[in-house]
Amino acid sequence: MTTHLAYADLHCHLDLFPDFASAVEEIERAKVYALTVTTTPRAWPRNRELTENKRYVRAALGLHPQLVQDHADDIHLWEMYLAETRYVGEVGIDRGPRYYRSLDKQKDIFAHVLQSCGRAGDKILTVHSVRSARIVLDLVEEHLPARAGKVILHWFTGSKSEAQRAVELGCHFSINTQMASNERGRELIRSLPCDRLLTETDSPFTQIDGRTASPLDIGKSVQLIAELLKSTPEEVAAIVFENLKRLLGTSSMGET
Ligand code: MN
Repeated sequence: MTTHLAYADLHCHLDLFPDFASAVEEIERAKVYALTVTTTPRAWPRNRELTENKRYVRAALGLHPQLVQDHADDIHLWEMYLAETRYVGEVGIDRGPRYYRSLDKQKDIFAHVLQSCGRAGDKILTVHSVRSARIVLDLVEEHLPARAGKVILHWFTGSKSEAQRAVELGCHFSINTQMASNERGRELIRSLPCDRLLTETDSPFTQIDGRTASPLDIGKSVQLIAELLKSTPEEVAAIVFENLKRLLGTSSMGET
């Protein structure tokens, strides 16, 4: 008997690969569900064009917090395109040393994104929260209650208590292999409820076996979770797929 595992990469950047169009086609052929995020709404028309009518690849409309310092005005463009997609990202907050000085601006932009998503309804957001879990969760709690939209915390590195708060707010977590590079990260992953687990690669920003990762490496994220939870890849892939279907509110991925 052959087992067909359904894989899903909920956070990758296909438009940063050397050949975006080929990357999309390769993932379609591999039948990996992939949510490709954008860092600027300026990339949206091309992302929409390459992903419309695709079976497995979906594009998310983003304005990356690391770009807010110099490109905050792009929020108007982001707003203009919002009605064209259910998926939003990469958005969020980065309080790392290089981006700290734009923190107030980032908060304004992220609050605006959450409010717009709440008004539009039914959006799914993939959210960056580097050194800012508390701020991100405060803003989500204030501006996007669980019934108004769904938040996936991507590459979450907050504390276990912050993760617990995120669970209470209805958030999901997309897990990549680099999150397990230290014991703190592994312990965090083990602490998450199974029904909130999703998988990601964040490719091309991650490495697998010393080379740049791609969404086709998503099996490694599944394997990692299986090891940490003392489960099997088959079981974890099935759990992630069920979580994704529930998140999307549909039994057929092709209809989203
Ligand atoms: Mn990313």
